[in-house]
Amino acid sequence: MIAKNFISFNMATNLGNEIKYIAKALSMDKLSGDGHYMKLVHRWFENYIPNSRALMTPSCTQALEMTALLLNIQPGDEVIIPSYTFVSTANAFVLRGAKIVFVDINPDTLCINEDDLVRVISQKTKAIVVVHYAGACCNMDRVMALSKEHNLPVIEDAAQAINSYYKDKPLGSFGDFATFSFHETKNVTSGGEGGLLIINNSSFIERSEIIREKGTNRSAFFNGMTDKYTWIDIGSSYLPSEIQAAALYPQLLELNKVTSRRHEIWSRYRSSFQILALKHNISLPIIGDAVRHNAHIFYLICTDESQRNRFIAYMKCASIQTVFHYLPLHLSNFGLLHSSSCCELQHTVDISSSLVRLPLYYNLSDNDVERVVQCTLSFFDQE
Ligand SMILES: *Cc1c(COP(=O)(O)O)cnc(C)c1O
Repeated sequence: MIAKNFISFNMATNLGNEIKYIAKALSMDKLSGDGHYMKLVHRWFENYIPNSRALMTPSCTQALEMTALLLNIQPGDEVIIPSYTFVSTANAFVLRGAKIVFVDINPDTLCINEDDLVRVISQKTKAIVVVHYAGACCNMDRVMALSKEHNLPVIEDAAQAINSYYKDKPLGSFGDFATFSFHETKNVTSGGEGGLLIINNSSFIERSEIIREKGTNRSAFFNGMTDKYTWIDIGSSYLPSEIQAAALYPQLLELNKVTSRRHEIWSRYRSSFQILALKHNISLPIIGDAVRHNAHIFYLICTDESQRNRFIAYMKCASIQTVFHYLPLHLSNFGLLHSSSCCELQHTVDISSSLVRLPLYYNLSDNDVERVVQCTLSFFDQE
């Protein structure tokens, strides 16, 4: 049984009006993909990221898989990815037979290490994937310059990055592609699962609609651009239900409200734990000057793994759930067989063993935030 005063690490964003939109969607004639609310979601994103095409998908994982299909990734092709990320970032390309070349992260941004990236680009490289961890990012200018120099497509795994900006441009507007997630752990959610593909390179738009519609030109047919609807390429079913779009849309309309509540909590943590940085050598998130982030994650980096694990156990005793994050993919059972890495990836290994994330979600109350703050401080007091 869950104790009454339990504070979970995450709860899905709930504004309260989603149910009205879902009921409206259910009352409409068309419930399958690209209906009324999905068109509104697409329009919202195409406005948010100018000159893009937006296509909602059942998950960010599937949006990533679409990019691998669109880039015609073949067995033996190399794709460069930071090891400190979610499985799907790499798995989407492994499904097409790619060999993943893992690189390290930077200890400040926790995003791709640009020097490693330079080092591993080869004749076999077919794509670069950057991951906007915690809604922050690497030096995108440098990555985009490398992409141009080597004529390599960039995919932004922007799963965590809605309403985050680099030099005042939204993350997701830099690469040939960007993928967003609306999983219940993300800042906004389409009823628990969902994602979206952004296509910034217009040469991929036509084929993306075909791949998303099971390899058919159904989309062009419905738009009156062809008089036949037939099988013309490989593809899959990458359309979510209208209900997912209806759950998401009201949250997009209130995105700034959601983000600012998260910032209140994030800033409360940041200022309360400054003292831990000074007295206990704990690292706090560092946000570069060029970045405006979305308060997706608040983390502490403990002095070592055993302290991190003691902290999680201590908080658990106080009915507060705190969690670590990615285990390095290059050291996973599967990763060891299907990837290579440029070097030791020491920052990935260190961060993975010492980072802990604190409860942070839109509906978290001030009282609960205060309890997390006090329990965290008291843990370090008794260390
Ligand atoms: C959440 C997440 C994903 C996967 O998103 P789904 O919508 O659950 O498929 C991929 N990459 C990163 C970095 C994520 O945080």
